[in-house]
Amino acid sequence: TQVPNITLNDGREIPQLGYGVWQVSGDEIVDAVGKALEIGYRHIDTAAAYQNEEGVGQAIRESGVPREELWVTTKLWNSRHDDARAALEESLGKLGLDAVDLYLIHWPVAGQGQHVQAWESLVQAQRDGLAKSIGVSNFNDHHLREVIDATGVTPAVNQIEVHPTFTQPELIRLNDELGIRTEAWSPLGQAADLDNPVITELAEKLGRTPAQIVLRWHLQKGHVVFPKSVTPSRIEENFAVFDFQLTEADLAAIDALNADNRIGPDPETFD
Ligand code: NAD
Repeated sequence: TQVPNITLNDGREIPQLGYGVWQVSGDEIVDAVGKALEIGYRHIDTAAAYQNEEGVGQAIRESGVPREELWVTTKLWNSRHDDARAALEESLGKLGLDAVDLYLIHWPVAGQGQHVQAWESLVQAQRDGLAKSIGVSNFNDHHLREVIDATGVTPAVNQIEVHPTFTQPELIRLNDELGIRTEAWSPLGQAADLDNPVITELAEKLGRTPAQIVLRWHLQKGHVVFPKSVTPSRIEENFAVFDFQLTEADLAAIDALNADNRIGPDPETFD
């Protein structure tokens, strides 16, 4: 399987499909990441808040996959905006890595007002080589403009909630205009979008599973995705999405499912 790379605004290439490990417990993480690496995933999306960075690091070491062939993303938690450098160093220690491929501010954190300070620290960490690329997550229009205005450095990605019933067209258009790549979190809508009749009919028509249809929609729209599953057959299924195409009409039918169905917290209020 050939996972396409996407070139980010800093010139680095990210594998467009990865493996997400939110809610993968300490007991499951080493086996799950090991399985994903065995299947061929080369991009892992974790976060300090997921409390599984040690297991991710262990699975990477045990896999024997050369470090330079892997893309590892982790994220700065909300309570560490004033202490980002130390938080990144802790994450690197847990992962057992000298640098991550991508370090993200996990949330802007409503009311706290420290995301610009945190971004300044990420800019310095990138200069110092601890994070090869830097970006943000759950940033809206004003958050993006604030960090860019303060530093002149545009985030490489904005990782936001996107799935067929929550498509965020305006924010994605802004990401595009600013040269920021959209990463779609909860790409399957945490499975809630998979029994939508439009999705199941397309799956039937194309002889694919609903998850494969939704992932194909993301990929053809240019989103970076990292579906989560701990079930080996599903980890495999979610990777087998490079031997078929949706038509423009199929993509438009899925676009039309947008229902403002946000699952996760609202960045304007989440703290
Ligand atoms: P997801 O949309 O990837 O859905 C995961 C759930 O869908 C699984 O628990 C499983 O129940 C089901 N599933 C997976 N594959 C399936 C298949 N082939 N068939 C049927 N059901 C299937 O949701 P997610 O885990 O919330 O999001 C993916 C990743 O996004 C996370 O692991 C994490 O890395 C990232 N994320 C980031 C943020 C953020 O704030 N930045 C928030 C949430 C998630």
